[in-house]
Amino acid sequence: MPVPRLRAVLDDLVSYQPTEGVYGPARLRPLSANESPYSPLPSIVAAVAAAGVDAHRYPDPGCGELTRALARRLGVGPDQVLVGGGSVALLQSLLHAVGEPGAEVVYAWRSFELYPVLADLAGVRSVRVPLTSAAHDLSAMADRVTDATRLVLVCNPNNPTGTVVGADMLRAFLDRIPPTCLVALDEAYFEYVREPAAVSGLELRAAYPNLVVLRTFSKAYGLAGLRVGYLVGTADVVTRLRKACLAYAVNGVAQRAALAALDLEGELLRCVGATVAERTRVRHTLLTAGWDVPDGHGNFLWLGLGAHAAGFGLWCIESGIAVRTFDGEGVRVSIGSVEDNTAFLAAANEWQARTAMAKPAVPTTAVT
Ligand SMILES: *Cc1c(COP(=O)(O)O)cnc(C)c1O
Repeated sequence: MPVPRLRAVLDDLVSYQPTEGVYGPARLRPLSANESPYSPLPSIVAAVAAAGVDAHRYPDPGCGELTRALARRLGVGPDQVLVGGGSVALLQSLLHAVGEPGAEVVYAWRSFELYPVLADLAGVRSVRVPLTSAAHDLSAMADRVTDATRLVLVCNPNNPTGTVVGADMLRAFLDRIPPTCLVALDEAYFEYVREPAAVSGLELRAAYPNLVVLRTFSKAYGLAGLRVGYLVGTADVVTRLRKACLAYAVNGVAQRAALAALDLEGELLRCVGATVAERTRVRHTLLTAGWDVPDGHGNFLWLGLGAHAAGFGLWCIESGIAVRTFDGEGVRVSIGSVEDNTAFLAAANEWQARTAMAKPAVPTTAVT
C-alpha cells in the first residue's frame, strides 16, 4: 500500500522522548527537565490571569514591549533583540536561516539533545566534536569549521554536563571563526553561573558581529510552561533572522508573564541563588560519597556513569525520581526542591550500597 511521501529524514529521526512518569498520573519527583522548582510569584500569576482576558485577540507579533524591556535591561538596541517561542524556537529559526544544501553546523557532543534534531529537520549536516573531560574542546571545534560551516553552537554551560568555557578560551575560539559564519552561544543557564573565569557572549558581541546569544525565561525565570526565550545579535542579523520566525509565535500570556518576571528580577534571582546553594550541597554530598561529578554550572549535575547509566536511571525511577538518562553515557539530574534533592541523594546512596560500588571504585566520567 503506497504511503504519502514525506522527507526521508523523518524516517531516521528519533522523536523527543520525555522521561516516563513525569507527565502521567504517577508523578515522579521532577528532576529530569531542569525546571525551576519555584512556582511563579503571585504577581506573575496575576499577569497571566489578566492576559487571559485578551485571548480572543492575536498577540503583538513583534513582542514590542517585551523586546524594548529586554533591550533596556541588556543595554542594547531593540533592533538587536529577537523574542521567540522558547529559545528552542529561535534555534530552529537559526538553523532554517542557514539551511541551504551543503550547509553544516558544528557543535560539541554530547550537548543539548535538540541540536541534531533541529539540524536534521532544517537539512543542515551536523558535525559533532567530542567533549574532552565533559567540556567543550573549542580548539577541535574551530578545526572542524570549513567553508561549508554556516553555524557553530556553543552550549554554555553545556547541557547535560554542566561545564562552562572560560573567557580567554572563548575569545581565542571566536578569533578563529570566519566572520561569515554565525556562532550561537546557548546561554539557557547563564543566571546560574558563578564561575569567575566564565563570560557571557553579551560582553563579546561588540568584538564579534557574527555572535548571537540565546537566553530563555524557562529556567532561572521559572516560566518553562509559557515558552518564551530571546536572542541578541547585531541589528542586521536580527532583521534577517526575524523573517525565519513565525509571526504570532509568542502568545500574549507569555509576553505579559515575561514582562512581569523582568520586574521581579531581584526576587527571581534570589531563587536562583538558593538553587546554586543546593547544587553545591548535592555535588559535595555526592563527591564525599565517592561519585565523580563534574563542576556543574547550570541547575543540574552530570553523573558520567557510562555503562551504569541505564541501571542507575531505572533505579531512580523506581525510587520515584525522574532523571534524564543517556544510555551508555550518563545521567543528568536537575537541582529541584530541597526535599526532592534529598530524596535523590538517598536513592544514589542506596544504589551505591546495592551495587557494592565501594569507595573509591566509582565510575569515571565516560563522556569523551
Ligand atoms: C532548557 C534549554 C533551552 C531552553 O529552551 P526553551 O525553548 O527556551 O524552553 C535551550 N537550550 C538549552 C541547552 C537548554 O537546556
